[in-house]
Amino acid sequence: MEDATDRIARPWGTRVPYGRHETWPARVDTFLAEGVEPGAVRRWVQSASILHSDGDAMDIAVADGRMVGVRGRDVDRVNRGRLGPKDLFGWQANASRDRLTRPLVRRDGQLVETDWDTAMDLVAARSRELLDSRGPGSIGFYTSGQLFLEEYYTLAVLARAGIGTNHLDGNTRLCTATAAEALKETFGCDGQPGSYDDFDHADVVALFGHNIAETQPVQWMRLLDRLEGADPPRLLCVDPRPTRVAEHAAVHLAPRSGTNVALLNALLHETIRHERIDRDFIDAHTVGFEELAARVADCTPKWAAEICDVPAARIEEAAELVGTAEALVSTVLQGVYQSHQATAAAVQVNNLHLIRGMLGRPGAGLLQMNGQPTAQNTRECGANGDLPGFRNWQNDAHVADLARVWNVEPETVPHFAPPTHAMQIFRYAEQGSLRMLWISGTNPAVSMPELPRIRSILSQERLFTVVQDLYLTETARLADVVLPAATWGEKTGALTNADRTVHLSCKAVEPPGEARPDLDIFLDYARRMDFRDKDGGPLITWDDPESAFEAWKRCSAGRPCDYTGLSYARLRDTSGTQWPCDDRAPEGTARLYTDGISWAHPDMCESYGKDLETGASQEVVEYRSLNPDGRAMLKAAAYLPPHEEPDEEYPFQLTTGRTLYHFHTRTKTGRAPQLNDAAPDVWVEVSAGDAERLGLGEGDLVEVTSRRGSLRGRLRVTGIRTGLLFVPFHYGYWDTAGGSGPGPDTPGRAANETTVTDWDPASKQPLFKTASAALTLVERGGGRPSPAPTTTASAPVAAGAAPPTSGGPAARTTEQEPTEFPHGHEEGAR
Ligand code: SF4
Repeated sequence: MEDATDRIARPWGTRVPYGRHETWPARVDTFLAEGVEPGAVRRWVQSASILHSDGDAMDIAVADGRMVGVRGRDVDRVNRGRLGPKDLFGWQANASRDRLTRPLVRRDGQLVETDWDTAMDLVAARSRELLDSRGPGSIGFYTSGQLFLEEYYTLAVLARAGIGTNHLDGNTRLCTATAAEALKETFGCDGQPGSYDDFDHADVVALFGHNIAETQPVQWMRLLDRLEGADPPRLLCVDPRPTRVAEHAAVHLAPRSGTNVALLNALLHETIRHERIDRDFIDAHTVGFEELAARVADCTPKWAAEICDVPAARIEEAAELVGTAEALVSTVLQGVYQSHQATAAAVQVNNLHLIRGMLGRPGAGLLQMNGQPTAQNTRECGANGDLPGFRNWQNDAHVADLARVWNVEPETVPHFAPPTHAMQIFRYAEQGSLRMLWISGTNPAVSMPELPRIRSILSQERLFTVVQDLYLTETARLADVVLPAATWGEKTGALTNADRTVHLSCKAVEPPGEARPDLDIFLDYARRMDFRDKDGGPLITWDDPESAFEAWKRCSAGRPCDYTGLSYARLRDTSGTQWPCDDRAPEGTARLYTDGISWAHPDMCESYGKDLETGASQEVVEYRSLNPDGRAMLKAAAYLPPHEEPDEEYPFQLTTGRTLYHFHTRTKTGRAPQLNDAAPDVWVEVSAGDAERLGLGEGDLVEVTSRRGSLRGRLRVTGIRTGLLFVPFHYGYWDTAGGSGPGPDTPGRAANETTVTDWDPASKQPLFKTASAALTLVERGGGRPSPAPTTTASAPVAAGAAPPTSGGPAARTTEQEPTEFPHGHEEGAR
């Protein structure tokens, strides 16, 4: 192993090969701030990564009361000591000089500093006034995938039982709503079936619209280590861009955007035609096979090839790969989730696993991935659409049970309609029925589709907007009240990653100025509002993170996401543990569905499902007749073309996405120098063929225009599929003169200037992958390269077209075998 590696230039670090069915060897990655010697670290404080959904366990190095670095936890099941670039360098943003340190309120059009009492009194007074004059439906909450479990749960209780509003959702709607919906449609309930450990056992790994190398770089290290070991897995990559995954794939399919259902139906067709199915599993555990077989009967590779613009022979190869695997892991992410048939496509991946009997055993893993670090908590705590503990809003017994936990009357919990999704919450604000919107830990003025519309909604005089964040984001600049929040390392809480692993993140340092943990802010609000239970006692009975965790355990008891076997003490002692963790599974649960489909029974399921084409909720009667015994449901779907297709005026398909070095709207990663320098500004990717046809080259300044708006960026010519443009969505305006949007005479920079207000009918996840757009030259690059990284899917097709991305000495990270650490182990650290 190398002593020091530039982890910007070599993001995945040094290989430690291992063979199939072996344990992934540990490698401990450590990064300390310049000038800090290991001996100077006074404390190592237990935490986990907050800049993606992988849940990499790490310890925070503290010296002189400051965070000075991070080190991976070799004992942890998720990362075995490894850290990705965002883990290694992202923590520096916590100490950024422009952190918010005092509350702000808008006076005469300007945001001015004030004290907490004034700000919170204002929020409480407006809440009371609206409750009296317009009722609970006039208040909405839009939260994040980046707070802690205890914070979401507290928010869910105060919003649903305190205010009594149905309008509470997370930005996870943009990100993992389809994961949840696809699991509910198939298994009746959310809950990731597989485990990251399945990567150790698989002989085939299929990645559908999932650029794991950039979104979960540590699990990509795991796959890279397996690829160099004995009996390596073969990869199927479905992605229109030349990702690192594509480079290593046995089969790479680069379909037209919006055609996933056609492709998956062809894979199912081939699997059934060649009888590569597990009949016993189908008979014992599923319903709907005959309908599925009939639906895909005509979906030949040749048929799909025309739609997807992929050779039929490649589809046949892909079908053979997944159809003959003895242990198949499939992962799904935004390439599937952010399109017009998102749930329909994600469900077909579930179907593939079910008809092949690839479930509930080592290496037979299904991972409907998440994007954000705590998206799973948003979902399970009831802050992302559903009721807490995966309870079914249409099932009166579930609502009554939740009311019992909260000691309120069942009618106090809104369940007259599905919990309102984020796109609808913004629509209500636009139409005027919603008059107060409390936004915590997210930045819709950059991340939502069709930004001109979002800015105009948030700027309305009649809408009272509260924003709770670390910095004066694009969204905060439009708020009426801004509340300064503490972040990870400055507060304590639990977080659960995409494979159900729960970690504890402990407070290491004080937050800056008067910034407060999100939990304290919600508790303060609940006190000021004097929310009561049905006996007149306080609705919220907890007052710190650990008591909030204990309250959540009571809510989760007996539910699929049962946390009752966990405690802060246990999480400190054992590092990550997968839920459910209870009396029956005191060590946690590696895989769901090892012994049948546990939560699909009509009395237990989280959802009665939806029509995949219209999104209409099914009733219990329909569900009972389809699935009386609670089996997995094989739901078929017909391919439907994208809502917006290229034409003469807008001849390209446009897809937005992520890069390895940034997270979400770049609020944190843009303030970490190594990450920001690796990808400092927006760019536009185009194929070599299209560039040549249009006479464009590397570094040319171009404008991308859609029916909604436009942006400018420098061109990167890559191996992306012909006819497709890619723009990273991270870049907004906080570091430009515009502040919250483009200035009056400045062009757009954010990808979402161009995206459309439209969503998948079932999951309500917006479409970021299927718009059409025009590309025009603004100015020649004149030798200036695009700011896109060269180490990732954005690599130029012509070697040498841009200088290689590197971090230099500032990015040097040590990678060690796990031996003894020089500074001992403090409480709360390993
Ligand atoms: S970047 Fe996208 S996928 Fe990632 S966390 Fe944000 S919304 Fe989710």
